Amino acid sequence: MYSIEISSDSGFCFGVINAIDKAETILNNNETLYCVGDIVHNEQEIKRLESMGMNIIPIDDSLKLSNQTILFRAHGEPKASYNKVKIGKNNLIDATCPIVLALQDKIAKAYSSSIKNNSQIIIFGKKTHPEVIALLDKTENNGIVIEQINDIDFIDFLKPIEIFSQTTKAPKEYQEICEKIKFKSKNTLKIHDTICKQVSSRGEKLQEFSKTKEVVYFVGGAKSSNSKVLFSLCKQVNSNTYFIESERDIDSKILYNKTKIGICGATSTPQWLMQKVMQFVDSEMKQIMSGIT
Ligand code: SF4
Repeated sequence: MYSIEISSDSGFCFGVINAIDKAETILNNNETLYCVGDIVHNEQEIKRLESMGMNIIPIDDSLKLSNQTILFRAHGEPKASYNKVKIGKNNLIDATCPIVLALQDKIAKAYSSSIKNNSQIIIFGKKTHPEVIALLDKTENNGIVIEQINDIDFIDFLKPIEIFSQTTKAPKEYQEICEKIKFKSKNTLKIHDTICKQVSSRGEKLQEFSKTKEVVYFVGGAKSSNSKVLFSLCKQVNSNTYFIESERDIDSKILYNKTKIGICGATSTPQWLMQKVMQFVDSEMKQIMSGIT
């Protein structure tokens, strides 16, 4: 016999659930909805919402709209986006995650103090990620974004430093960067623990889950930072971990002689997609077991 299990620590975080709930409420009323950027970094979920009538637009397209409903996703938006939406008297549904909003607030306060004490605001994250763009906006784009260890050369270590992380970064990577900065710093250094607990607590749980399986399918979106982080953690403890966007990426040959299969995903992976993967694997396993394939 064989077993296929979906990890209970996988699937949408509450920030994404909130944004999708808001979108569905509007779409179920047959209203037109425009969402600025991908509502979630998962192509399959986007296609589902587009089939219900959602339109994904770049922010500048909101300038062509008037009296429409426009949604901002969980990542947050810079101030300029709010101004653009207002021009056409559009109805804004702001689904920025409360955790991201709290981080934006913290950075804005730190930035205002930094003007007085000549300190530097550092953000550890991906420069092009929408959350980071909105966070940097809180420093009037004067903060320094650190993507990787070499970027710390942009820091003036003689000045005071305050460091924050994008909410979806890997805790270990953040810790390593902070250690390097601590070592070089010649002034005061404030490290803020700003990785979302919905993300940081998942890594270890998914590793425990992956260790108990012979094959693990990590279901995630190619554009999702959280998927990349969690997938690499699972792969570290189980080399038979495969990144898939949907059941179409599964090579069934891998399932031969395997009996314990695990399925897990990121904060942007819909539950229905993991279920679909499970059904596919189940039908493949049945065929393998009956010797049809
Ligand atoms: S990962 Fe955390 S911060 Fe990001 S949207 Fe989800 S709940 Fe909010």
